[in-house]
Amino acid sequence: MSDTTTVINPATESPIADVPIRGLDETDEAVARSLEAGPAWRAIAPADRARLMRRFAAQVEEHAEELAQLETANVGKAIGESRDEVGMVAEVLYFYAGAVDKHRGATVPVAGGVDMTFHEPLGVVAAIIPWNFPIAITSWKVGPALATGNTIVVKPAEVTPLTALRLAELALDAGIPEGVLQVVTGRGSVVGTRLAEHPDVAKVAFTGSTEVGRDVMARASGTIKRVTLELGGKSASVIFDDADLEVAAASTPGGVFANAGQDCCARSRALVQRSVVDRYLELLSKAVEGWTVGDPTDPTVKMGPMVTAAHRRVVEGFLAPGMGGADGGPVSAYARGAVPEGPGYWFPPTVVAPAEPGWRMAREEIFGPVVAVIPFDDEEDAIRLANDTPFGLSGSIWTRDGARSLRMARAIQAGNLSVNSNSSVRVQTSFGGMKQSGFGRELGLEALASYSDVKNVFVATDG
Ligand code: NAP
Ligand code: MG
Repeated sequence: MSDTTTVINPATESPIADVPIRGLDETDEAVARSLEAGPAWRAIAPADRARLMRRFAAQVEEHAEELAQLETANVGKAIGESRDEVGMVAEVLYFYAGAVDKHRGATVPVAGGVDMTFHEPLGVVAAIIPWNFPIAITSWKVGPALATGNTIVVKPAEVTPLTALRLAELALDAGIPEGVLQVVTGRGSVVGTRLAEHPDVAKVAFTGSTEVGRDVMARASGTIKRVTLELGGKSASVIFDDADLEVAAASTPGGVFANAGQDCCARSRALVQRSVVDRYLELLSKAVEGWTVGDPTDPTVKMGPMVTAAHRRVVEGFLAPGMGGADGGPVSAYARGAVPEGPGYWFPPTVVAPAEPGWRMAREEIFGPVVAVIPFDDEEDAIRLANDTPFGLSGSIWTRDGARSLRMARAIQAGNLSVNSNSSVRVQTSFGGMKQSGFGRELGLEALASYSDVKNVFVATDG
């Protein structure tokens, strides 16, 4: 019998479920079942494998409201966000169902024969998932892994395992064979490290912190596993004086406070051209007032609590006196939203302005609803500030000058940029980081390459 852990609703602090804490032996058993399920899964005719994945997507659609409520209860995210994310899960599964029989090899003109390529499955894939987007990020790995003929073992974050567990049940209900998609709950230090080291795991698809990503990569090196890493960020919105300032300011809360700021793409630095900073801040403080915090099951509420009490303490630490300035000076909050009284790990949306680029809260990933507003002088200054970070995940450029938007988009070192928008993630387009935000791309057709190896076959035809 496994030990269990109690899963807590962060908005009410009430227990919602007990979930097993699996050990090394149980992890090994899951990998063995995954390995065993591989050949039969790959033997299913492509169109039939695609059909099974579509049925899986349809199961998600049929249970969408149940899944969204479960995600909100477990993570504390606003119900509108959970509904959108569950909608995306179905879309991801449909998208990759469509890719099963379209991920073609090539024939290559060569001397002396015929040369062709095959996209071979890797075998057993391990997916290690963070707590901030549990069901969405699970689907980003499950979709391309299954489409390319792999089997997959998912290790959810210890505090948010509920939707991944339900997803695995829905896969079985859809007719996906036993062992093809498994979920192993437990600790990162036990289940996660074991999956990263296991000789029968061919690839680790990891999303989480840069620190743990580094450890996963080191452990995976023992057996030369394929690794993709989606890690942290310290992304910037760059707002020029020729932007539509009303729209840019009104969009800022959504770009940094969505999912209570617990988003690797959060635009946690707003770089604003000096001549319009005052006007921008005026507009922004009005927008922050409208960013309501409260019961995440209420569809009018924009933001729920932090995921755990421990995480709220981490976020608070970035604003504590003496924690902000490079010189140890205090951080002053310019505008702060209101939070409910009573139980729940609440933290108000917070604007720090003006912030110094050297402050800890302006350099490190806070993973909470805090934005640092930093003035800049000109384009060159904006590029320097935007790139002055070890991260490179996402960012936004706000300007009405088309040529400038393209110059900036080419100059900023980040994997996902948007112009006059804060949208980072779409099913059809690739997603991933530069620099220490990781490598490998999820979503889009690009993800298929990370779940398959190219095999080249030459057949001599001369003589
Ligand atoms: P985390 O601490 O890195 O954990 C991520 C996952 O790894 C969890 O399932 C965790 O299990 C597991 N884990 C922990 N230690 C491990 C180890 N030594 N070996 C293998 N697995 C291990 O991240 P988090 O606290 O869940 O999430 C916050 C971080 O994730 C932020 O830095 C954020 O930027 C990043 N993130 C990035 C993206 C992206 O797409 N780039 C998306 C979301 C989040 P336990 O929960 O059991 O510890
Ligand atoms: Mg962690």
